[in-house]
Amino acid sequence: MSSLLLRNIGCLISGKVDKPYCEGDAVLIKDGLIAVIGGNSLAESDADLVVDVQGATVAPGLIDSHVHPVLGDYTPRQKMLDFMESSLHGGVTTMISAGEPHTPGRPKDPAGTKALAILCHKSSRNYRPGGVKLHGGALILEKGLKEEDFAELAGEGVWLVGEVGLGSVKDPEEAAQMVRWAHKYGMKVMMHTGGTSLPGSSVVTAGDVLTVQPDVASHVNGGPTAPPLQEIERLVTEAQMALEIVHCGNPKAADYAARLLKEKGELHRLVIGNDAPSGTGVIPLGILRVMAQLSSMSGISGAEVVAAASGNTAALYGLNTGVVEVGREADLVVLDAPMGSVGEDALKALEAGDVPAVGMVLVDGKVMFNISRNTPPPKRKPVLKEMKK
Ligand SMILES: [Zn+2]
Repeated sequence: MSSLLLRNIGCLISGKVDKPYCEGDAVLIKDGLIAVIGGNSLAESDADLVVDVQGATVAPGLIDSHVHPVLGDYTPRQKMLDFMESSLHGGVTTMISAGEPHTPGRPKDPAGTKALAILCHKSSRNYRPGGVKLHGGALILEKGLKEEDFAELAGEGVWLVGEVGLGSVKDPEEAAQMVRWAHKYGMKVMMHTGGTSLPGSSVVTAGDVLTVQPDVASHVNGGPTAPPLQEIERLVTEAQMALEIVHCGNPKAADYAARLLKEKGELHRLVIGNDAPSGTGVIPLGILRVMAQLSSMSGISGAEVVAAASGNTAALYGLNTGVVEVGREADLVVLDAPMGSVGEDALKALEAGDVPAVGMVLVDGKVMFNISRNTPPPKRKPVLKEMKK
């Protein structure tokens, strides 16, 4: 049995938007799961490894709800290696594929799109690119798919439908039928919202999204072109689905959507994605940057934006991570104010608009690194101590 104790935690963020803080200043991890959340009275001798976080903040590992991977830690879109490992250094421990449209020569027939989803799903299940828990293999809806195809895909473990609108199925009624089949077989469905992203994709209106009824309206602030603000308002008021704000979108529309969700008391519907790699690029700190934007400019507290990038997404996709709770996978991030920030801790730095420093990332209770190579250095550096048994 392997165990690790995080102690001397200044602020423990839960990842739950309705109760964003946990009581306690120490977390004991056993065999990759959170075992005890308690006080500094938790004995160091209970653990193989002790991490003194020196009063910094501990939060759930961030979940990027919108990535466009292909295979491994390589993106043909920007011809770049190790972008997922670089995002891990931005605090992201889990990524949800929104489809693999950047696959060179992507097949657009039913057999090809199914094969791609199965391959990418199984590849991501067997291998963590860059150390990140990638949920890959999001089916792209192409003309000709039948109900039995969804049954077959579900049988192979595929449980995601990538952004509706990426493939040849553009008509909302045609898409709605396929989405009903996907839901029948337990799949989660995303839908591109707003302006056209690439030649070949299409403009998607709020009315289209309301017809199709996906589980999440992807990038309501545009990917990258936003829909009109009144369409965002329709999605907030006329639907119950999750609404995603992405880095590679429109900041004004992001502000509008976030404020409206806060005002309506529906922040549990807000999830944060990167939408990279894309034409905008690869942005390893994209999730932290959206968090800093929303908490400094849109009236969402630092702890609430953490939940929008962790617990909300975990609840949407049914993942056993993203929340600091006994029994959850111990995917955690140690955050602090970056050196020189006017904020004295991670949340104050976020609310001041600074990207926080990532001091350490744990995946399944294993230390992935101590001090991020991408964020500025933290004011307080975690100290590791091996316990002799
Ligand atoms: Zn999109």
